[in-house]
Amino acid sequence: MTTPLYRGRFAPSPTGYLHFGSLLTAVGSFLHARHHQGEWLVRIEDLDIPRNVQGASAAILDTLIQLGMYWDGEVWYQSQRLTHYQTALACLNTRQLTYPCICPRRLTTGMIYSGYCRTHPPASFLAHAIRLKTNTDIIRINDEIQGEIRQNLADSVGDFVLKRRDGIFAYQLAVVVDDAAQGITHIVRGVDLLDNTPRQCYLQTLLQYPTPYYAHLPLIVDTTGRKLSKQNHAPPINPTHPIPLLYQVLKLLGQQPPLFLYNSTLPTFWEWAIAHWDTRKIPPTQTLNPMTV
Ligand code: GLU
Repeated sequence: MTTPLYRGRFAPSPTGYLHFGSLLTAVGSFLHARHHQGEWLVRIEDLDIPRNVQGASAAILDTLIQLGMYWDGEVWYQSQRLTHYQTALACLNTRQLTYPCICPRRLTTGMIYSGYCRTHPPASFLAHAIRLKTNTDIIRINDEIQGEIRQNLADSVGDFVLKRRDGIFAYQLAVVVDDAAQGITHIVRGVDLLDNTPRQCYLQTLLQYPTPYYAHLPLIVDTTGRKLSKQNHAPPINPTHPIPLLYQVLKLLGQQPPLFLYNSTLPTFWEWAIAHWDTRKIPPTQTLNPMTV
């Protein structure tokens, strides 16, 4: 496969409909790709079956179309790619880079895993997760918007899960396998995922995949400072009047859209936004409050 000069993607999880926060990520990755004459793919990250909302994938895709955000190629669904994740996992298992873990999720989520099962292997008949061994090397990422990021995985996250005990492949593994399989060269997404990026870079190195170029966009927060998210019941956007919504996103991203765009058509709107996209104008903050613009 020849690697394109620029191939970006938007990778929503269908755990709810598109809300204003995910719209900002979609718009940012779309504009970044199109401004660089790049391709823009859409991938539905529907591995976490218990969290999927029925009808959300179709609704997200419909909304993108109504907003005039057309993607290239076929939409990929992670639920149809399990054998590829298994192959990558088997490759890491064979090299003894992983180990089974029976520690309950509720005791380890959000914490630096102590590595207990690394030194105390559980009996093989017990249902287990698979963790990746990490080390104290410093991983460095040069993010176009957030600057240089450094992380020592062993001390900041610990050995992390690649396959859950319920058999579901973890986001970290699936995202890395698919970004490589789709030949993604540029990843533009929300800053809430910045902290995951060193884990993904580490996996890319182990699996001998190229590391894409990263740009993490600020997040939209509500009036109380909480991230807009499906978990926080952010309302779905209504795409029947797309221009006011898109105009507000451009403004929040510091792109200074001219007033005439507010009354323009979608093609005119996108033409201006693509031509004038400039990441240097994005406010140098990790959160954006729509009430302040
Ligand atoms: N599926 C993830 C989400 O909706 C995004 C993954 C990514 O962009 O790497 O939060």
